[in-house]
Amino acid sequence: MNKEKIQAINAARLSAVKPELANKCRAIIQLAANEGCTLVITQGFRTNAEQDELYQIGRRGIRGERKVTNARGGQSNHNHGAAIDFAFVVGGEISWNENLYANLGRWAHQVGLKWGGDWKFRDMPHVEL
Ligand SMILES: [Zn+2]
Repeated sequence: MNKEKIQAINAARLSAVKPELANKCRAIIQLAANEGCTLVITQGFRTNAEQDELYQIGRRGIRGERKVTNARGGQSNHNHGAAIDFAFVVGGEISWNENLYANLGRWAHQVGLKWGGDWKFRDMPHVEL
């Protein structure tokens, strides 16, 4: 995943969420860049049907599969353009190293967004209005 591709993905996903969230997420991307980190948006706006599909994960009887959300269609802030999920890109690949995501929490708080890593059902890539 190169820089141009990341910028194109981020621009497309930012254009589909509320402008206030988009502006704050642009600020997060800049704060990350200032510290030498690259962020790509993995999820932005989600339809209710897409949310219902996610809700089924971990609830459809597949052994070992874990739940990924407690929100049904319409109940997630992603369904209202009010949430974004970020991933760190390290060496051109997405990294799920949890140590990195504490930085995302710091930047989210700095720009006035809520961070999913603060919740009981921890969702470290997630920020919302
Ligand atoms: Zn999310």
